[in-house]
Amino acid sequence: MAATIDYTTSKGYKVKLQTGLFINNEFVNGSETIETINPSTGKVIAQVQAANKEDVDAAVKAASDAFHGPWRQMSSSKRAALMFKLADLIDRENEALSQVETLDNGKGITFSRNFDVKQIAITLRYFAGYADKIHGKVIDTDGALSYTRHEPIGVCGAIIPWNFPLMMLGWKLGPALATGNTVVVKTSEMTPLSALKVCELVVEAGFPPGVINIITGYGAIAGDALARHQKVAKIAFTGSTAVGRHIMKAASESNLKKVTLELGGKSPNIIFDDADLDQAVRWAHKGIFFNHGQCCCAGSRIYVQESIKDEFLKKFKEYTSQTKLGNPHDDDTFQGPQVSQTQFDRIMGYIEEGKKQGATCYMGGNRWGDEGYFIEPTVFTDVKEDMTIVKEEIFGPVVTVSTFKDVDDVLKMALDTDYGLAAAVFTKDTARAIDVSNRLQAGTVWVNCYNELDYNTPFGGFRQSGIGRENGEYALDNYIQVKTVKINVSRKP
Ligand code: NAP
Ligand code: MG
Repeated sequence: MAATIDYTTSKGYKVKLQTGLFINNEFVNGSETIETINPSTGKVIAQVQAANKEDVDAAVKAASDAFHGPWRQMSSSKRAALMFKLADLIDRENEALSQVETLDNGKGITFSRNFDVKQIAITLRYFAGYADKIHGKVIDTDGALSYTRHEPIGVCGAIIPWNFPLMMLGWKLGPALATGNTVVVKTSEMTPLSALKVCELVVEAGFPPGVINIITGYGAIAGDALARHQKVAKIAFTGSTAVGRHIMKAASESNLKKVTLELGGKSPNIIFDDADLDQAVRWAHKGIFFNHGQCCCAGSRIYVQESIKDEFLKKFKEYTSQTKLGNPHDDDTFQGPQVSQTQFDRIMGYIEEGKKQGATCYMGGNRWGDEGYFIEPTVFTDVKEDMTIVKEEIFGPVVTVSTFKDVDDVLKMALDTDYGLAAAVFTKDTARAIDVSNRLQAGTVWVNCYNELDYNTPFGGFRQSGIGRENGEYALDNYIQVKTVKINVSRKP
């Protein structure tokens, strides 16, 4: 049995932390340990067990045994009941899970409570509802009865990032379990603690051992072993485009496992001069600064129509200055620290690069406080479209503001990227909203809002932002394989 740790947060909340690898419904030791850091202070929270290749083998074996054993034999309605139960337990433990998420990731506690923890529960419930409604079709074929079965794939691997540790867990578990698969999830080395807390609830809910296995580990070791595993039938990855390429390569070099990828973005947010400007300012703020800019779909390129540029910037600065940056354990904190020293350095590097290339730092641009990884919300103006800060995903609280003349002008700039995850349009003109939405190359287009993610609408990328869709009914397709059964009635050979 791996150690559990009694931890007290800076605000006096007491919580039990699990540090093991969760395999076969037990917390076990791995081959080495990883330090998990509190990004608000830069100090170590706990040593967490880390998986090597043999540990990944053990997790995959557990998942494979469960898939061929109790999980396959269980009725779909019982499977759904377990998922509903887990969702209820997650809601019951909202406060503990929120505290752990905020401690390990640095997001504001109010967001952990009202968004992240609620999202995992609601996503599990949504997909639980599908568990007993997965079925094929009857197809009329001459002299034979043909029908399709929608069967599970087997052991599904999931590799998730650190920006929404619990929500990403829900996005992977929901469709995989509902369709009858078993899972091995590798969490990010940066944020392993909240998913391990969920594992306590997996046991309490009554899932058979091996159905859900959750391991911490380094990407290059545990992640790679999972992506290359011969007995993993599918891998779902969320993270950087660079690692996404690696996952596809690992799949092709091993057993051609099915791959879905949810990768990065550099999403344009287009604001026309007829938009409700106060609303557009608030949504644009949420678009870039929600989760400290650590969103794959962040609206990191704002395009404002020329005539409203000055007014937009003034209001945007005013609004941004009012939101609180500080201790994420305070109820009213909007922005906490970036997740790690590495991400902090990376973002500060982009800010320096922006200044060096001649952009104007209109607000922010500095470290905040003297411990932890806090960065002021940062706005660049006077940018050129070929600058690094306009081209590359920064994944932090940094936004560029450019101007445009008309629709063709802005679309030329908006489409000049290899990414295609999200985009937004602000206008009161419905015809223009529809026209621009149709012409944008993105998996999600928001009109007069931003960063509104729903568990029941598909999410994923055009171009190099990914392959496949998560959430909504579309997500189920990634976790089933279709079998045709043909029964001869009157055919002669
Ligand atoms: P990352 O390296 O892509 O990490 C995402 C996940 O992949 C983590 O669990 C990571 O493990 C794992 N991983 C890393 N190398 C791997 C490998 N060779 N094989 C298999 N799995 C591997 O992302 P990051 O380094 O944390 O962040 C870098 C950049 O990625 C960010 O700045 C941002 O641009 C982008 N990103 C995008 C998203 C998104 O939601 N689309 C999320 C996070 C990051 P470990 O972290 O444990 O090593
Ligand atoms: Mg990494």
